[in-house]
Amino acid sequence: MPVANLRRKHSSRKTLPPKRGADLLHTPLLNKGTAFSREERIKLGLLGLLPPAVSDPETQAQRVLTNIRKRATALEKYIDLLSLMDRNEHLYYKVVMANVQELMPIIYTPTVGQGCQLYAHIFRRARGLFITRHEKGMMKEVLRNWPEKDIRVIVVTDGERILGLGDLGANGMGIPVGKLALYTACGGVPPSQTLPITLDVGTNNQKLLDDPLYLGVRENRVKGAEYDALIEEFVKAVQAVFPKALLQFEDFANHNAFRLLKKYQDRACTFNDDIQGTASVTLAGMLSAGRILKRRLSDETILFHGAGEAAIGIADLVVNAMTAEGTSKKDAMAKCWFVDSKGLVESTRTELQEHKVPYAHPHKPIRELADAVRAIKPTALIGASGQAQQFTKEIIEEMSRLNARPIIFALSNPTANSECTAEQAYTWSKGKALFATGSPFDDFVYEGKTHVTGQCNNAYIFPGVGMAAVATGAKRITDEMFSEAARALAALVSEDDLASGCLMPPLSRINEDSAKVAAAVAKLIYKRKLATEPEPKNILAAVKAKQFKPDYPKYA
Ligand code: NAD
Repeated sequence: MPVANLRRKHSSRKTLPPKRGADLLHTPLLNKGTAFSREERIKLGLLGLLPPAVSDPETQAQRVLTNIRKRATALEKYIDLLSLMDRNEHLYYKVVMANVQELMPIIYTPTVGQGCQLYAHIFRRARGLFITRHEKGMMKEVLRNWPEKDIRVIVVTDGERILGLGDLGANGMGIPVGKLALYTACGGVPPSQTLPITLDVGTNNQKLLDDPLYLGVRENRVKGAEYDALIEEFVKAVQAVFPKALLQFEDFANHNAFRLLKKYQDRACTFNDDIQGTASVTLAGMLSAGRILKRRLSDETILFHGAGEAAIGIADLVVNAMTAEGTSKKDAMAKCWFVDSKGLVESTRTELQEHKVPYAHPHKPIRELADAVRAIKPTALIGASGQAQQFTKEIIEEMSRLNARPIIFALSNPTANSECTAEQAYTWSKGKALFATGSPFDDFVYEGKTHVTGQCNNAYIFPGVGMAAVATGAKRITDEMFSEAARALAALVSEDDLASGCLMPPLSRINEDSAKVAAAVAKLIYKRKLATEPEPKNILAAVKAKQFKPDYPKYA
C-alpha cells in the first residue's frame, strides 16, 4: 500500500503529504523504527537512516521492556515510556498492552502524579493542546490547529486538583496524556482519535509561579464569570470542531466539577470520571460483594468517609442502581450516609456544600467516624476522604461485630493515604472483610487463607465507556450507562475470584474485559436511541473490529 494511503488509513487526516525518509521516522503513528524491512527502507528513502539489522516487533518490545525494567525509579520509567510514545506509538502500545498490570502504575497513577509535579523540568516534547484565557474568542481556531480531524475522545483538565496533589496549573497536562493512553491500551480507542487538552486558566500555586522553568501562564487562576465563559466557549468549540467527540472532564476541583457536570451533562456528550467513573467501578465492587452475600444492593446501608467528588458520585450512582431494583429514590438516598471533616452530614448542619445537602438526613450531630459507625450501623464503609489510616482497629472491629461480612472499601490514593492496609482490614476483621481499595495491595494470607484485594481502578470503566461512545457515535453519556458498565464489570468477576475475596476481575485481562463493558454500554446507547452510527447485528464483534491493535502498518 502506498505510504499516502497508509497515512490516511492510520490517521483521520484526509490530505496529508506522503511521508518518507526522516519525516517518516519522526511520525510516531507511522514509524516502525528498526522494524522497517530492507524492502521498505529502499522504497521509503530510509536506507542509511537506521542501523542495518532489522528487528521484529517482539524483539523491539523485549528491548524496550528490558531497558525499562533496568531503570531505578518509576519516574525514569515514565520518562522512557513517554519518549517511546513520541517516537513509535505502535511499539509503545504493544509494550503497554502486553504488560498492563506492570506498566499502568507507571503511565498513570501513582507515577503520573510525579510526572505532573515535575512536568516543566522533565519536559521533552509537547503533546496535547494548551488553551489559555488569551485564546478567548479563538478556541475553534486553536482546536483546528490539531492535525487530526476525526477526534472521538477528549480528556480535558484545568489542572486545579491533580490527583491528590492540588493545583498544578499547566503541569496537569500529564493527566490527559496518561489517561488517553489508558483509553487506548485498555479500551482500544484509536490513538489518532484521542486529544489531550489542558485549559491553562492560571494557577494559584506560588511554587509554580516562582519556578523559572514553569511552562504555563504565569497568572493566578481565572475565576467566576470569566472562568464560566471560557468553559462555555470551549465546550461549544469542541462541539463545532469535533462534533463526534466525547468530552471527559478530569481533575477539576470539586467546586467546579459538580456544577460543570450538571450544566453540560444534557447539552453535550460528556462525563466526569472522578465522579461517574469512580462511582461505576465502586458500584461494581458493591455488586460483586452482593454476589458473595447473596443480597441486593438495596439491602446495604453505606457510610461514606469523605463527601467529595468520589463519595457523592458513588452515592448518586448507588441510588440510581437501587431505584433500578425497585427501591424508591427517597429510601435509596436514606441508605447513604456521610462523615466529612466536620462530622456526620446531617440536617442540622447549615454550612454544607450544595452536593452534600440531599444526603443530610435527620440525625443528631456526631463528630467522630467511630461514633457514626456505632449509630448508623452500616453494612458497608467506604473511605474517600484522602485521609490515611482513618479506618482504625476499633472501627473495623465494630464493623465486624455489626456484620458477618462487612464491606470495607479504602479508596483513598495513593497507597500511603489508604484508610487502612489489606493486612489491617483482614487481620482486624479476622478475615471477614469484603475489602477493596483505590491503590493496589499485595495478596495477604490470614490464618492460612489467601485474600486477594480487588482494586477499584477507574480503568475498568472509562476505557469501555469511551470505546462504546466511539463505536456508536454516542450523543450523550448518562448515569444509567455507568450503572450498566458496573453491572457488566461485576458479571466479569469469576466464582474463583469471589472465592478469594476479590471483587474485581484480574487487571491482566483488561483489554478483553473493556470490550465487554463497551458492548454492554453500546447496547444501552442504542436502546436509548442516543447513537449516531447504525446498530450492528453483533455489538461485541463491532466494538472489537473498531478497537486499535498495536500491529505495525504494512508498507510493502
Ligand atoms: P474531594 O476533594 O472531592 O473530596 C474529599 C472529601 O473528603 C471532602 O468532602 C472533604 O470534606 C472530606 N474530608 C477531608 N478531610 C476529612 C477528614 N479528616 N474526615 C472526613 N472527611 C474529610 O476528593 P475526591 O475526588 O472525592 O477524592 C477523595 C479520595 O478518593 C482521594 O484520596 C482519591 O485518591 C480517592 N479516589 C479514589 C478513586 C478510586 O479508587 N477509583 C477514584 C477517585 C478518587
